[in-house]
Amino acid sequence: MHDFNYIGSDLYCEKVPIKKIAEEVGTPVYIYSSNTLRNHYHAFDLAFADIPHIVCFAVKANSNLSILRLFASEGGGVDIVSGGELFRALRAGIDPQKIVFAGIGKTEEEVSFALKSNILMFNVESSLELQKINEVAGSLGLKARVALRVNPDIDPKTHPYIATGLKKSKFGIAISRALGEYQIASTLPNIEVVGVHKHIGSQITEVGPFVAAMEKILELVKGLKESGIEIKYIDAGGGLGIRYGEEKPPHPKELGKALVPMIKDLGCTLIFEPGRVLVGNAGILVTKVLYLKSGEVKNFVIVDAGMNDLIRPSLYDAHHEIIPVEKQDGSYLTADVVGPICESGDFLAKDRKIEKPEPGNLLAVMSAGAYGFTMSSNYNSRRRVAEVMVEGEKYTVIRKRESYEDLIRGEE
Ligand SMILES: *Cc1c(COP(=O)(O)O)cnc(C)c1O
Repeated sequence: MHDFNYIGSDLYCEKVPIKKIAEEVGTPVYIYSSNTLRNHYHAFDLAFADIPHIVCFAVKANSNLSILRLFASEGGGVDIVSGGELFRALRAGIDPQKIVFAGIGKTEEEVSFALKSNILMFNVESSLELQKINEVAGSLGLKARVALRVNPDIDPKTHPYIATGLKKSKFGIAISRALGEYQIASTLPNIEVVGVHKHIGSQITEVGPFVAAMEKILELVKGLKESGIEIKYIDAGGGLGIRYGEEKPPHPKELGKALVPMIKDLGCTLIFEPGRVLVGNAGILVTKVLYLKSGEVKNFVIVDAGMNDLIRPSLYDAHHEIIPVEKQDGSYLTADVVGPICESGDFLAKDRKIEKPEPGNLLAVMSAGAYGFTMSSNYNSRRRVAEVMVEGEKYTVIRKRESYEDLIRGEE
């Protein structure tokens, strides 16, 4: 569900015409619906209402301060993977006691920053990292709350680049070795073991893999209890998929229905780290058609947004619907929609049937709210684009378009 709809032949975000934003802010531009963001947050939150839980939005999906602030105002926490994300989260007013910190390569400086910020817990990915956290905590005279990220060896049935819970994956600690690691962790003087964490991948469109992974986690929690280690938090990670095209991902309430009964008698707090499912369909990328061109075997629609603005099609072969901001007369064209970057991999869609646009027309690239702006870069010395948040009848620029001066800041 989202709030990007046609009224007559014009595409709107809530009550604001997309065309108006494009004219006033320029293109390319990311546009987010605050109403969709709130609805998605509530749907997720409500799905787990029967048990103590914290919804920790995965900042890497969309790290704009205004978006983090919106989730904070709804009571949400965050899942971070770097010191930079911690900085953003604190700046946005996220309660440190709702911040969890994952990632296989946390530096000493990042660990120290997080400890001083008194975050809820570190999701630890290796035994050396555990020792490092113990050491840093000791030097600060603090105690670090940790969960171990275990790798349950579950196939999430998604793109290999975003599968993270298989044996061959770089993430987490093998579940077969987890008990031993927990026993070591519980002897470390500056470590307090509080949780178990797993995250098996992204864009998962079935409930099955979540249930299978949870079964393995619960077995571990039981084993831990038997050896005297009490778990307070079960962090089930993120990964719930969204509709880009023909997918039929489960609603969060189906996930809740499957998982809540499994854990409700354990007395644990459930943590979830949804990223894509909260923001993906709440954002679009609006781009302007610059030129049309017919090659010998293909047509090209050349637009002003490139792979530096939205890399998902190039990186994951991802599908994004592309629709006109103003519906035309209904004649169609099959074409590659490509950007201005000097790479053949620079495309937003391949062999796509779209309403035939004219130069100057605006196109909306749908479902671009997650891993869109956050993965954008300055490649080809392109300025990163503006981001806009719509709220009912008004909109706000929540990140200014970069200037040429921004491009060279810090360079000699
Ligand atoms: C990326 C990531 C998430 C969010 O994944 P989504 O598929 O966007 O929900 C959650 N937790 C961890 C540890 C991650 O790395």
